[in-house]
Amino acid sequence: MEIEIHLAKPEDRKAPNFDKLVFGKIFTPHMFVMKYEEGKGWHSPKIIPFSNIELHPAAIVLHYSQTIFEGMKAYFGVDGKIRLFRPFDHINRLNRSADRMCIPQVDPNFAFEAIKTLVLLDKDWIPKQKGSALYIRPFIFATENTLGVKVSHEYLFMIILSPVGPYYAEGFNPVKIYVTEEYVRACPGGTGEVKTGGNYAASLKAQAVAQQKGYTQVLWLDGKERKYVEEVGSMNIFFYFSDELATPALSGSILPGITRDSVLKLASHLGIPAKERKISIDEVISAIQEGRLKECFGTGTAAVISPVGEICYKDKPYVIGQGQTGELTKKFFDYITGIQYGEREDEFNWTV
Ligand code: PMP
Repeated sequence: MEIEIHLAKPEDRKAPNFDKLVFGKIFTPHMFVMKYEEGKGWHSPKIIPFSNIELHPAAIVLHYSQTIFEGMKAYFGVDGKIRLFRPFDHINRLNRSADRMCIPQVDPNFAFEAIKTLVLLDKDWIPKQKGSALYIRPFIFATENTLGVKVSHEYLFMIILSPVGPYYAEGFNPVKIYVTEEYVRACPGGTGEVKTGGNYAASLKAQAVAQQKGYTQVLWLDGKERKYVEEVGSMNIFFYFSDELATPALSGSILPGITRDSVLKLASHLGIPAKERKISIDEVISAIQEGRLKECFGTGTAAVISPVGEICYKDKPYVIGQGQTGELTKKFFDYITGIQYGEREDEFNWTV
């Protein structure tokens, strides 16, 4: 399929000053749009000037949330090259999300071409400062007009781009997290292991409560017993105990993060024993009390690695590693960002 390109006006294509970027607030001059219709399949891919879109008020996505998305980044390297980090892993996850939500999958090579063409067209909008990047948001949503609860016969696949500033503008500081026992993010058999809007809508209430109590993120427990740790905010979580690095095993309700996978592969490369296993909140709290939990961090595309300095459980705060960022946490951050910005050799072939 050939992508039809309609350029934005030259005055709209000039990149602004990237000094004060707020996440996800400004967008590049172009966007990718492709339609799906039953019988025709995916067709008419276009890159057009960024604009609002029109939807019928009964579009299925607005009522029943049949929608999926991805979040990845393009980095401007120290060598002037533009790198995507594990793009095919993101596209394959988009297709797994599609399958779970009864959305037609996209051809991975074509989706990659669409991302690449769009990023190159708007390449002046990739901020150059280390830590900043161009956030890439591919998403697919159901556009058929009906109030019946059913699988839509029509969809739009869109890609929009947003320049984002360094996540750690104020330094690599540990966050404080709050264990919610009242709310769950996802449950067995649900949609927790895919990226669909409803998961994020469902997480807002707990996040609001955590913030009211002075915490940055929610630590989610499993939806069945509320005993095992699953994720932190919209990141995966790692614990560095005295004898091992561990992260919750993929349970069906945990999103298989690409940064999580990168940390596991990197740990094994560095000779650090890393395990995917069940980790109960009781185990974490006892390890903190007995001084066996050395470090704790979240992983995700947005922050890459986010050190955790305090966990609040049953309204009691527990401080990890004197609330300071640990050495291993920093090492993973430097290693992965080093690869993303072309500062170190990519021995894993993660970047394209
Ligand atoms: N968990 C959730 C719920 C997320 O939304 C994300 C962000 N995609 C992650 C974990 C981290 O995934 P990744 O490392 O692929 O960004």
